[in-house]
Amino acid sequence: MESNRIFIVEDEPSIAQTVQFTLEAEGFVTEHFSTGTGCLAALEGTPPSLILLDVGLADGSGFEFFRRIRQLTEAPVIYLTARDAEIDRVVGLEMGADDYIVKPFSLRELVARVRAVLRRVGTSASAVAGTAAVFQLDPVRRRIHYHAQLLDLTLHEYRLLETLLGQPERVFTRSQLLERGWDDPDHRLERTIDSHIKSLRNKLREIRPDADPICTHRGVGYSLIPGS
Ligand code: CA
Repeated sequence: MESNRIFIVEDEPSIAQTVQFTLEAEGFVTEHFSTGTGCLAALEGTPPSLILLDVGLADGSGFEFFRRIRQLTEAPVIYLTARDAEIDRVVGLEMGADDYIVKPFSLRELVARVRAVLRRVGTSASAVAGTAAVFQLDPVRRRIHYHAQLLDLTLHEYRLLETLLGQPERVFTRSQLLERGWDDPDHRLERTIDSHIKSLRNKLREIRPDADPICTHRGVGYSLIPGS
């Protein structure tokens, strides 16, 4: 994925042109779409690094297009929204996107927001890439490889490791792990997490005796640091 390719989905030609001109002057490569449908069609190809999405498009609502964009790409989305009823929906339940900018916006603000979102997404993407080198998660087959070796996990061990891998370095409490790993969590049994973590650690140690990626946080819970 190119790090500086931006899709602009905006049906007002004057806004689209100004945004396009400004971003290109800042070194970004842009593609403009006057309809959401056009953007969706283009997403079948190489995804952009970011999408600026007008909320009020001629061929439909940006919220609806956002859902369909998410089925095709994880690229961050910034809504371009008018200062009316739209904004309440943007900041409310329909947000979903990574950020929003209210029209009329200053071009300096636009560039700053675009850079901030790209920076945020870039750091989390590389954190995940670092994880992928050590652990490989295959949610469809419910399998996890560790240092290229398939782990033989019980369902609960799989779910625990999947949860920890989902947010590296985040500390999960036993209660949170129970909620995510058990279909019918019984919180009187939170200590059961400890025994599952113990057996999980043993399985990881069989592959790498010198490494211990699961950290115990006394009195709190557990986190996973892939590289350790
Ligand atoms: Ca519009």
